[in-house]
Order: sequence, then C-alpha cells, then structure tokens
Amino acid sequence: MPGGLRSRGRGRAGVALPTKSSAVTPNPAGSLPVTGCNDRVRRRMRGTMTSGVPAVFLDRDGVLIEDTGYPHLEEHLRFTPGACEAVRRLNQLGYLCVVVTNQSGVARGLFGEEQMRAFNALLVRRMAAKQAVIGAVYACPFHAEALDERYRHPDHPDRKPNPGMILRAIAEHRIDPARSFLIGDQPSDLEAARRAGIPGFRFEGGNLDDFVKDLLGH
Ligand SMILES: [Mg+2]
Repeated sequence: MPGGLRSRGRGRAGVALPTKSSAVTPNPAGSLPVTGCNDRVRRRMRGTMTSGVPAVFLDRDGVLIEDTGYPHLEEHLRFTPGACEAVRRLNQLGYLCVVVTNQSGVARGLFGEEQMRAFNALLVRRMAAKQAVIGAVYACPFHAEALDERYRHPDHPDRKPNPGMILRAIAEHRIDPARSFLIGDQPSDLEAARRAGIPGFRFEGGNLDDFVKDLLGH
C-alpha cells in the first residue's frame, strides 16, 4: 500500500504518498517515513520521484468552508471543522493543495466573477494566516442555464463532473496525477476525479483533518 492512503469503505486507493517536498511548503523532514509498504510499492515510489508534485484537489463549498448556499461575502466564509489543520497537514506531507470549485452563482447572476475571485482570495489569505497554504484556486462560473449568456454553456469542460479544472491544474503546476487525489462532498466531485484519472474521496461532514488523517493513515 503506497504510504498508507486509505479509502473509506471501498478498499485501497493505490495512490502513493509524496516522496519529496512540494514547491509550496517544504517538508521539514526532507522525506516521508514510508511505513507499511512492500518492496514493490517502494520501487514504484522511487520511480515517481521526478515526475511532478503530488496534489490534493479540494472542493470548496461543503469541504473547506460551510456550504451556506452560494457563499460569496466575507460573512459567508466559515471554515469547516479541521479545514485549516487538514490543509496544513497536507502541506507538511508535501502535497500541493488545489481548490477546484463550481461557482454557478456567477452564471445565475447572484454575484460577479470579480466578487468570486475576491472571495477565493480571502479564503486563501485566511488559510495562510493559519499556516495552511492553498497553492492554486480554479473556479468555474459557467452553467447551462446562465442568465448572463457569457457564462452560458451546455456542458462546460471545467464544470464538474467534467475534469477540466483538474486537468488544467495538472498541466499548469507540474502535478503528478499518480500521486494525487481529490476530496469532495458531491457525486459530481468524485466523477470529475474519475474522469481526470485520479481517486476521489467523499467528505460527508465532520472534521476534515480527521478525515484526511484517516485517509492517509497518519
Ligand atoms: Mg461542494
């Protein structure tokens, strides 16, 4: 089992833990202690050491912050329990943390794209204030029934369950998909992960750091 990544109730995920630090936050230990791995897994991990950074793709609403229904104002920004700790833990394990979020509130005319960006930037700053580093944010403002035709698209490649945001992040940040995975709260998140060829895990509430700890085995 690569690095002990665990899948909740559906067997082993088969994703290797990172073996080197990401570009975002150095792993103070230099490399991860690899426990519980057999020789085959160790060989595989050595083989992936130069092929890019491991990443965790995180849905925003319902995973990192409470889903209050199209959150976009400062007063809507409420982290879920353990969210900052989970991102910090992932940073320390060498993962690049990438937010991938559908934001059809823009298409529905509830708020503008600039406001969406400002809200995401605020989230990143608030996380950083707690030593939790978000490496990148990808947000999809498109929807099939958009009021504003600029955001109307019958099936935009970025809108989850399509994998566009994940695939773009992989290309733009030199991410190694073989050592990456996604955490989301909706079936569309997991389907986007599947279409991108990475494992997806469903977070159904509770403490996100406990969830991540359980997933990674430490
Ligand atoms: Mg969600």
